[in-house]
Amino acid sequence: MSFVLATNDDGIHSPGLAALAETVSEVEPVVVVAPDRNRSAIGHALTLDSPLRAEEIRSGVFAVDGTPTDCVNLGVHGLVGGTPKLVVSGINLGANLGDDITYSGTVCAAMEAALMGFPAIAFSLDAREFATDDLTRAAEVVDYLVRYVLAAGLPPGIFLNVNVPSGAITGIRLTRQGKRHYGEGLVHKTDPRGRSYYWIGGGLAGFEDIPGSDCNAVAAGLVSITPLRTGLTSEAALEQLADWDLSFSMD
Ligand code: MN
Repeated sequence: MSFVLATNDDGIHSPGLAALAETVSEVEPVVVVAPDRNRSAIGHALTLDSPLRAEEIRSGVFAVDGTPTDCVNLGVHGLVGGTPKLVVSGINLGANLGDDITYSGTVCAAMEAALMGFPAIAFSLDAREFATDDLTRAAEVVDYLVRYVLAAGLPPGIFLNVNVPSGAITGIRLTRQGKRHYGEGLVHKTDPRGRSYYWIGGGLAGFEDIPGSDCNAVAAGLVSITPLRTGLTSEAALEQLADWDLSFSMD
């Protein structure tokens, strides 16, 4: 069976996932395998210490009590016959720009697919809620890029991190990973039983102005496409560090 595998990190009930699956289903049959609840910022986590349950809540739509990366594994290896032509993730509620990339379950689901050798695209919408107009515009971007990647393919080990601005779209650009700034992150309070608790997550305080970056593009109303790679080795640093004295020995 030829199909596109769709997942996300916002959970199986997200309107962003529904828009993604509906849009792609006009191009290719879609199988949805997604977390049964919101697992945003779960990164590339894989569940190894407990079994996974997958409930087929509608034909070809599976809710899994695991992470986005778990879902890609199930979608590729077991739940359905055959292997996907493409793996898509999203449409995430909120942009995944700059430093967000390795926190993001949305992006890491696409990374997992790329590690397995499949072309993959992560889609995120720079918004705090799913306005109908924004979701419609994001779905048009999905339609365009899914058709494009199915026809043109992607280089081995490369996956796309796509961010769609809210409001009017002024164009599409290839970008590089930028740098986001977050505010003072740690909230310290006392619970009703007198015990301290901490809450991570300072608000977004802006981004570095880096021409050609994902952050700059989305701020300018452009759809940002960042090609990312699974191999994280810095070839430049391998050369820069070549003169390190590594004569360490265990004596
Ligand atoms: Mn999310």
